Amino acid sequence: MSYRIGFGVDFHQLAEGRELWLGGVLIPHHKGALGHSDADVLLHALCDALLGALNLGDIGIHFPNTDPAYKGIDSKILLQKTWELVVAKGYGIVNIDSTVCLEAPKIKKYSADMRSVMAGILGISEDDISIKATTTEQMGFVGREEGLVAYATVLLKAISY
Ligand code: MG
Repeated sequence: MSYRIGFGVDFHQLAEGRELWLGGVLIPHHKGALGHSDADVLLHALCDALLGALNLGDIGIHFPNTDPAYKGIDSKILLQKTWELVVAKGYGIVNIDSTVCLEAPKIKKYSADMRSVMAGILGISEDDISIKATTTEQMGFVGREEGLVAYATVLLKAISY
């Protein structure tokens, strides 16, 4: 089988005084995501999509939030480590699609930077990374700005030499 699809989702609470990291980029905002790591929901969802595509478990198995080694860790390192697992299995990325759900701030202007950071870690073109954003029209925990969610889908292809 040469193609594998993967899907990932991640949720974090938002709290005053935390840094807001998304797609490996620090976004100015009065609230940030709470978590054991830097709580980058988009990179966490992407890690889960990559792991899921190859049936390698999930981010919680590989990087437990009870392990002091991962306290405050930059999620770009988690993505790098996850990517190394994919490469070791002999797969490359065809494309990534993702959506971040949050009420504020608007993240469209940071999308190019996020794609650039992610493309750099994964060694792929920015053209193969899509980052979309939506609010939930003021409904639910996202609408009340209590939390945020990210969804990611990835298509992998076996590398043939
Ligand atoms: Mg997470």
